Amino acid sequence: MRTLITNGTVVNADGSYQADVLIDGETIAAVGAVGPGGGLVGSLASALTGSGADRRIDAIGKYVIPGAIDAHTHMELPFGGTFAKDTFETGTRAAAFGGTTTIIDFAVQSRGSTLREGLDIWHAKAQGNAVIDYGFHMIMSDVTDDSLAEMDLLVGEGVTDFKLFTAYPGVFLSDDGAIYRAMQRTAKNGGLILMHAENGLVIDIVAADLVAAGTTDPIGHGMARYAIFEGEATNRVIRLAEAAGVPVYIVHLSSRDALDAVREARDRGANAFAETCPQYLFLSLDDMGDGFNGAKFVCSPPLRTSDHQDELWNGLVKDDLQVVSTDHCPFDFEGQKELGRGDFRKIPNGLPAVEDRLDLMHDGGVVGGRISKERWVEICSAAPARLFGLAGHKGVVAPGADADLVVYDPNRKHTISAATHHMNVDYSCYEGREVTGGSDIVLSRGEVIVEDGEWKGTAGRGRYLRRTATGGAIR
Ligand SMILES: [Zn+2]
Repeated sequence: MRTLITNGTVVNADGSYQADVLIDGETIAAVGAVGPGGGLVGSLASALTGSGADRRIDAIGKYVIPGAIDAHTHMELPFGGTFAKDTFETGTRAAAFGGTTTIIDFAVQSRGSTLREGLDIWHAKAQGNAVIDYGFHMIMSDVTDDSLAEMDLLVGEGVTDFKLFTAYPGVFLSDDGAIYRAMQRTAKNGGLILMHAENGLVIDIVAADLVAAGTTDPIGHGMARYAIFEGEATNRVIRLAEAAGVPVYIVHLSSRDALDAVREARDRGANAFAETCPQYLFLSLDDMGDGFNGAKFVCSPPLRTSDHQDELWNGLVKDDLQVVSTDHCPFDFEGQKELGRGDFRKIPNGLPAVEDRLDLMHDGGVVGGRISKERWVEICSAAPARLFGLAGHKGVVAPGADADLVVYDPNRKHTISAATHHMNVDYSCYEGREVTGGSDIVLSRGEVIVEDGEWKGTAGRGRYLRRTATGGAIR
């Protein structure tokens, strides 16, 4: 099966140009600039000699971009006695509607279990269900001699990074010694350390004080988790990583305080990276103030006051932040978020976002004049591919890469709403927001899976991605 996408503007992280894209089977066979007379030139012309294309897609006036990569999702995550509502089927389908063709989800090692047990559970959730390709990070919540040895095996199986927490005491929190041991091991096996950096022990004290003083509404969640606690933990874990000689990546960075720590580290040459998420760029603490309705916006780290937003955008412009991921972790307002009525500490933490990221970043970033369209592709696709061992296969429109492509209309306007989104959750954080830009046609390994708002894919067609350890050679 050969597909030719004609007349579009190919947008990669390193530049854009008018070109046709030839897909042969699951990969991109050729990308050819269109000559002055409109004819195909170079490699594309020779690739087309012979049988020609089975299908043509006209992309005039559209971008042709690499399918986006969401490096931070939590499908079916158990949290606070319930589960994130999107399965690998519903969550990856929603991702595809939003132009995302790869996710990297977090497998979880529970306390007292092995890494292997946790990883097997996640393979079982994804296999036969995911509609796009997927990889796994590993959450480590129990650092022992045995689990340290298992890390090397996982790297060999393509699970090349390990997430540890300085938050959630009693569930995910590791003390500094445990974190340091995991870092030492990763420095040897070539992987990457991911950190949820908030000082959870101190946050729990402030949260208990707030509840005791009568603040039980969701706003208390935002009040308790000071930005200073994120800044402190971010600096601490980066310092530990520098001492261990391992690259470190801060997940879901939300505040100026944490960004300062990352920027200072990068300025002194540390191998430190960070992502932020749309909720920290587009939403603020004000959204949490509407009584219990604020539960829709409870995630950790929490939404910040709006004065942090410009600093985060600046971080994206200056490459102190390399990636925007979603931390997609949806819970219904009815029946799930409601578990925390009367005590904000019991509200499941997480937001739906996997479907909206690419459009929000296009609208707020490119249309908003903050970043170029090339930078947009970089932070949503190319940088996660490079950092997480998918370079050459994903995140680029180039011969030999997987034909994960989006024909993107930069001018189409639509309104985000729970009534029309495809995520399996009963509300949207962006209800009623009009955005400019949308995915018209989405291809995953050469197969059209979304076309003009219609679903064409099948459950289970997504494949597990065995990623390559980058060995810290990524700065
Ligand atoms: Zn997360």
